[in-house]
Amino acid sequence: MSAVAIKGWCPGALRPMQSGDGLVVRIRPHGGRLEAAQATGIAELAARHGNGLIDLTSRANLQIRGVSDVSYPPLIDGLAGLGLLDSDSDTEAQRNVLVTPFWTAGDDTPSLAAELERVLAGASLDLPTKFGFAIDDGNVRVLAGASADVRIERDRGGALLVRADGAQFGRSVTRQEAVQVALTLAEWFAAFGGANGERRRMAAHLAGGATLPDSLRGDAEPVARSADPVPGLYPVGAMVGVAFGQMPHQMLSQLAASAQALRVTPWRMMLAEGMHEMPRGSDLVTEADDPVLRVIACSGAPRCREAHADTRTLASVLARHIPAGARLHVSGCAKGCAHSGSADVTLVASGEGFDLIRRGTTRDTPVLRGLTSSYLIANPTVLTGGH
Ligand code: SF4
Repeated sequence: MSAVAIKGWCPGALRPMQSGDGLVVRIRPHGGRLEAAQATGIAELAARHGNGLIDLTSRANLQIRGVSDVSYPPLIDGLAGLGLLDSDSDTEAQRNVLVTPFWTAGDDTPSLAAELERVLAGASLDLPTKFGFAIDDGNVRVLAGASADVRIERDRGGALLVRADGAQFGRSVTRQEAVQVALTLAEWFAAFGGANGERRRMAAHLAGGATLPDSLRGDAEPVARSADPVPGLYPVGAMVGVAFGQMPHQMLSQLAASAQALRVTPWRMMLAEGMHEMPRGSDLVTEADDPVLRVIACSGAPRCREAHADTRTLASVLARHIPAGARLHVSGCAKGCAHSGSADVTLVASGEGFDLIRRGTTRDTPVLRGLTSSYLIANPTVLTGGH
């Protein structure tokens, strides 16, 4: 049993979260990868014990939705049988590890992920619940835009480095040192990051004036970052998207049937290992320029009881009016569960219609208020500044 102390909590399989459609059971695939049999098993469990819907989250986790108090125990037994449970809920909560999906056989990535998970399971840390790690050790960085506090990356010469999120440089490490230095960085944050009881994240801690010790600072510059990947064929398989990060169980089992394994990503996409043709005839997002990739929408009504409106139907209709490269976020309330950051246009439902915010978040001041869905659909130019 680990002595880890987690402040607050994040949903997991062992600590499910109540939502408008029942319990949400979050699964954290080990090493960011599911064997095809595990993915098929998750789909079957979602059909039998949930409402059949599965989320793909921005932390590269899967969530089975619509679970009841009665169906939860057999669901957990099923996940245990698939090798997808941790020893306890604290260990599970601390195992926040994002993994680049683009590694190939012989790369350090899988062994770094396995070693980091093993070390974290035995660590006695005291970290904020969202604190996480990224293993982004390819020759371009693909996870730089994803949430993580401690990053294992490479420099331009191909050597590994460990970098605190928010720091420009990292410390050069050997393969043997990498995981231990990453853990030491997390321990430093745990010891010196919670000033005045704050539980902020690494980048905010450094921006607030905290200084890394010499032993963790280093002067290694990470390789360039890439834009977020898009659906398409890659050397290791086919990258496919899931509209709004939610799929019916049949979609997951069909994809698993054609792949050796599925690698999960924080971009609401999965990489189907060993697939060398894009899937056809499914509702998966397979085109890099599909307008649905330009919109983000939370669960909304009727799936979430906090929601003031149906977000996904509106987002689907408005998607084609969003220019390539721009982003529309439709939120059922001001909490902004689907996207905490800024978007080109954000629509937030309230009891009096939608508020419209430009280049901001759900918490920023709207430029227009009280817009109905039918008005927005009839006048989509209002999104881009026209009337
Ligand atoms: S943003 Fe609001 S409406 Fe949307 S899922 Fe979160 S709580 Fe529900």
